[in-house]
Formats: sequence, structure tokens, C-alpha cells
Amino acid sequence: MGFLDQVYRDAVLEHARSPRNRGELDPYSVRQEGVNPSCGDELVLYLRVEGGEVAGASFTGHGCAISQASASLMTQAVRGLRVDEAKLLVERFKDMVHGRGAHPSLGDAAVLEGVSKLHARVKCATLAWIALDAGLDAEAAGKTEAEQISVDQE
Ligand code: ZN
Repeated sequence: MGFLDQVYRDAVLEHARSPRNRGELDPYSVRQEGVNPSCGDELVLYLRVEGGEVAGASFTGHGCAISQASASLMTQAVRGLRVDEAKLLVERFKDMVHGRGAHPSLGDAAVLEGVSKLHARVKCATLAWIALDAGLDAEAAGKTEAEQISVDQE
């Protein structure tokens, strides 16, 4: 394992141990549940959308270190973005974990680039981002309680 791999691994573990934005958001615009049955990861994402921007994002749930770290990094990354920017970031994150490189706009979330070499863990990393995408769509459709999504649908 190279030095950079070690740095990335430490950053992921640090987010898994001390997740940012963990807990329910009150008030929230939409609540989106997501599951990754292949690993047992379960996530509840809370989003507050105000004036076309993601004003707040938080999560609860449980799962492996990669799923928890990814949710923590995602809630940090999306805060303050316009909804269209947030949806673009989801696509860039998916590109990254599928080995197509880390776009600079991903910021700290780029620590998860190494997941692209761990095929079994890609769904763990994408769960929070796919929940974000689905939650934003549900919010745009006027829903407060969105239907649960599963990364097996990807
Ligand atoms: Zn997992």
C-alpha cells in the first residue's frame, strides 16, 4: 500500500468514526431512505432545499465504514450547492468510483477514489449519492417522504 493509499484510508476511517452531519434534520424538505442489500448498509438522508439550493443535509442509519464515510463526505459536499450542481456532483462521484477519475469539484469526497479498485465496495460508496439524487427528484416532485431506493437498482 502506497503512502497516498494510507492517507485516503485514514481519511475514510476518520469520517466513519466521526461522521459529519449525523442526525435528523429539523425541519427537512425531504426524507429519503436508501439500502445496499449486498452489504447491509441502511441510510436515511434528510435534505433541506431552499430557493433552489441544498441548505442542509444530514443522515442516520448504519453500515460499513465506506458507506458511513461516504454519507458524511456527501453531506459536507452538497451543502450550499444549487440542486442542478448537486445532481451533477452525483454523476461525477459515480464516474470517480467507476474509475473515470476524480473531478476537482468533488473536494474532500475524492478520498473515496480508491473504492474504484474495490469492486465489491462501489455500491457502499454510491449509496448516499444515489439517495441524494433520488431525494432531490422527490423534493422537486413535491414529496416529503420519498420511497426507499436500493443501490441494486443501479
Ligand atoms: Zn457497505
